[in-house]
Amino acid sequence: MKKRIIFILLCIFITLTVISSYSLWVGDATNNRFSVGDRLMVVGITTFLFLYYIKLDKSPQYAHATINTEKNEKEQNGNEFFTKPKITFEDVAGLEEVKEELVEVIDFIKKSEKYIKMGAKIPKGILFHGPPGTGKTLLASAVAGETKSAFFSASGSEFVEKYVGVGAKRIRTLFEKAKKEAPSVIFIDEIDAIGAKRHSDSNNEKDQTLNQLLIELDGFNTDQTVVVIAATNRMDLLDEALLRPGRFDRHMYIGNPNVKAREDILKVHTKNKPLSPDIKIADLAKKTHGMSGAHLSSIANEAAIIAVRQNETIITSNHFEQAIERVIAGLQVKNPTILQKEKEIVAYHEAGHALIGKILNTDMVQKVSIIPRGQALGYVLHMPQDDRYIMTKEELCYKVMVMLGGRAAEELIYNHLSTGAKDDLKKVTDITMQMVCEYGMSELGFMYQDPNLTRNLSHKISKEMNKIIDECYITTFNFLKTYQKDLEKVAKALLERETLNCEELNEVLGNLKGEKDELEAV
Ligand code: ATP
Repeated sequence: MKKRIIFILLCIFITLTVISSYSLWVGDATNNRFSVGDRLMVVGITTFLFLYYIKLDKSPQYAHATINTEKNEKEQNGNEFFTKPKITFEDVAGLEEVKEELVEVIDFIKKSEKYIKMGAKIPKGILFHGPPGTGKTLLASAVAGETKSAFFSASGSEFVEKYVGVGAKRIRTLFEKAKKEAPSVIFIDEIDAIGAKRHSDSNNEKDQTLNQLLIELDGFNTDQTVVVIAATNRMDLLDEALLRPGRFDRHMYIGNPNVKAREDILKVHTKNKPLSPDIKIADLAKKTHGMSGAHLSSIANEAAIIAVRQNETIITSNHFEQAIERVIAGLQVKNPTILQKEKEIVAYHEAGHALIGKILNTDMVQKVSIIPRGQALGYVLHMPQDDRYIMTKEELCYKVMVMLGGRAAEELIYNHLSTGAKDDLKKVTDITMQMVCEYGMSELGFMYQDPNLTRNLSHKISKEMNKIIDECYITTFNFLKTYQKDLEKVAKALLERETLNCEELNEVLGNLKGEKDELEAV
């Protein structure tokens, strides 16, 4: 507003300066109604206004201006700060224990008088943590939906600003609004963007925003039914002040779904889709081990799109197979221009992975393919028989060996090292790093080591990791040498058919199951 007034005044004085100078320029000094003093004053005021306007333009935008603009924009667009979600707990599949825990919060919002009479305070700060796409946002909006509350959703990064005070002001505005619309649920996604641990060289703006959030969390009255739910993928980064009792003191881990939850999630996302009777959702759930709710929802959607693309009226299990591959391995490359020689290398590489998987009887091989997808020239899809929560050192080593199967096969057949093993090596490094630093499975002892903090140990850590990798590689190489004929059979079948499913692989290999123990002596 101030800037606008100064601008208008500046325009008026510029016009006056021009008018007062006009007669001088045309040489008619006698008829000029402006004296020299007047002219000097007009020029002086114009210069002052001009400099002041420039200064205003450069000065930081304080919170007030920004929030007002934001508010005006929202008002002008007809957008509101909040929504009234229609989602309920029925739309959130699985996560039964979390839903049970949230029932209490819902009851508090619905029947707040009952609790207030007893002097109980609403459990206001709930923190969902866990991997991405597991339904944290969905759950938060379901809490609002169940209680018919106003749902204020914001992402932590929306409060991160260059100018000091803007983030804090936004937090204040958000809470003010939520209190006004109570009962309400405030959901702050990616809270780590504003709630990360503070230290001496941390940023002033972020600290102010976090302080404001702490103040708001402390500032609720007992009769205000405002629940704050935050979500993060990195709980370890959060400042302890945020987690202390009275703030975000209810922590709920939202992990990837188990097989039963995957089945339920798939049912939710196929509810309104025409499915062929041959589809068994339970089988699909088994094939999608390790996937999040977001992956499953994407698979259901992808299967429908594939069916439409193929002009079908119902979705078949084949569409689901394609959708799973699309989501896991990426888009199939049309007309790949791969050289025959390279195709052979890829066939041996993938055959190496599949054969070691079969020999060690680790996760069931669902499919082997040398059709390029995404950035991969070939891939093997594994399907673990069960959800596993504990793994032994031996089982982790088997995983490493399956990963190394590709490189070992290339070395055995072509006696070369190629770039094709890059992704495998990354996974091998991750697993062995965890074995050494987190699981105490090396000679460094039964200790947890933070690899980022133990720089002086880094040499020893890499030595132990290398030891595990080398031992696994030698065993893998020996397995492949012993079973070279089978390796060649699989590679040739892949070159002929490009893709082998589980049954076809078994056909090519015969029954290798149970040979692991025998081979351990190799
Ligand atoms: P991020 O941590 O990346 O923000 P998130 O945990 O908040 O992810 P959501 O945004 O809630 O994940 O989930 C993404 C989508 O995945 C949802 O819109 C929904 O379609 C699906 N989804 C995830 N979990 C479930 C579930 N338990 N039931 C039904 N759908 C789910």
